[in-house]
Amino acid sequence: MEKLILYARKSTDTEDKQVLSIEAQLNELRKFARDNNLVVVDEMVEKRTAKMPGRPVFNSLLTRIKNGEATGILAWHPDRLARNSVDGGEIVYLVDTGAISRLVFPTFWFEPTPQGKFMLNMAFGQSKYYVDSLSENTKRGLREKVRRGIFPGLAPLGYLNDPRSKEIVVDKQFAPIIKQVFESYASGRYTLREISLLLKEKGIMTRGEKPYCLDRVKFILTNPFYYGLFRYSGEIYEGNHTPIIEKSLFDKVQRVLVERGHQYRNEVIKHDLCGLFHCSCGMMITAENKTKVQKNGNRHSYTYYRCSRKSKTIKCKEPALREELLDKRLSDFLLDFAPPQAVSDFLLAKLEQDAETERTNYNTERSEAEQKLRDISVKQKILFDSYLEQDIDRETFLNKKTELLDEKKSLAEFLNNFEASQKSWVEPMRNWLKSLGSICKIAKSSDLLAKKQLALDLFGLNLFLINQTPILKEYHNDKRAGENRLATPKPRAYFRLYSEFRSVIKNALTREDFSKSPDVVPETGVEPARHCCH
Ligand SMILES: [Zn+2]
Repeated sequence: MEKLILYARKSTDTEDKQVLSIEAQLNELRKFARDNNLVVVDEMVEKRTAKMPGRPVFNSLLTRIKNGEATGILAWHPDRLARNSVDGGEIVYLVDTGAISRLVFPTFWFEPTPQGKFMLNMAFGQSKYYVDSLSENTKRGLREKVRRGIFPGLAPLGYLNDPRSKEIVVDKQFAPIIKQVFESYASGRYTLREISLLLKEKGIMTRGEKPYCLDRVKFILTNPFYYGLFRYSGEIYEGNHTPIIEKSLFDKVQRVLVERGHQYRNEVIKHDLCGLFHCSCGMMITAENKTKVQKNGNRHSYTYYRCSRKSKTIKCKEPALREELLDKRLSDFLLDFAPPQAVSDFLLAKLEQDAETERTNYNTERSEAEQKLRDISVKQKILFDSYLEQDIDRETFLNKKTELLDEKKSLAEFLNNFEASQKSWVEPMRNWLKSLGSICKIAKSSDLLAKKQLALDLFGLNLFLINQTPILKEYHNDKRAGENRLATPKPRAYFRLYSEFRSVIKNALTREDFSKSPDVVPETGVEPARHCCH
């Protein structure tokens, strides 16, 4: 009498979706054994996939057969025994050597004849083929999704996987928070830790209700998904999901991330004029309190501003100065920039005119951008064709592809964002001119914070304190470029223009020859720099 071991297996993987449950297999096999008078010495159950060799229960089944505990196996179908070539081969080998003399399947006929072994091999081959093609189909499905611009994975925070359309849609609850996070970080006033706390405040935290770790925050801030692309298996693709933020905001965040790479955090600014001036050595000017005790016991406390002396290469010798003196010098410096009313008016009028010209030019630029977009589409096609024809290697293909996608994205944004881009310089420029107009009032007050803010608004971080005197220089190290109003070309152009006006007026004053400058009409007898104050 043949002794059989009953073997039932079902994995939770996709490959076994259609297969009977373990319970059902056991019931069917027991009934089959009874009906056919089979002797079953043991039942073995396994909940593992058979895609890969190395199932523990299956291995012990084979060991028991090799030890002679049984001479055959009862299973629902050959695919329960093996879906890979190693396990399938081992079964066939055991049949060849005679260790297995019976294999019984209710759904498959087998006898240990050459024909039976051939059929068994076929059955194992088919099971393997099924698994292989399933994974190939899945991969093909994913690739197809990617090609249609759909990220084939779990939607990132701020988006949802729509189960019906299988697409990725904006999460109305969290998307505004993501946008806020990008904007906050781009301002340069937040650390990653503070962003994590901001997220927690909005209810976004880990499962353990803890704030996100910094890496996770960084992952959000560097995910191109939010402006319309996505990463998939090491490549960047164009997504068809709705962007939450613009590429320009994303780029700004990347700059802040780089700048902050090794930057001091949580610096406490205690003194009003800290964080405004650079020293000649390139470091920032900081402040400290000093107390002097006189011989008669009176104590006087002073605030001194001095170089932070953080440079490791330059031994700084700039002298420190008292707050009162710095205040006076800063006020004088600011007043020196106060424009005559005529210049103010002229600059404002020019601003409006420039804005108008830009609007007109936009139409031309728009059609150019549209043409470029069409060109890129053609290039993309050519690139893809030459990759398929193997004219170029994969690395070149990927690099060029990313380049084209980036260019395309920027152009598309240019087209979408003209209004915003104009706002981005016209509004600040208007404010800058307003700041110029407020110099007299603020410089004559005793409000140090207001003076600092005004100086920052007017000159960004381009002020240096050299030999105890404020000096305006262009600050080339692009750190904190976002806060630097003069860093972008348009305001810089205005600033140059204004500087030219100033020198024209000054020369005119010394030579008493106003009429030679037709654009400027300074009022006679009034010192221009102080004009608006009188
Ligand atoms: Zn210094």
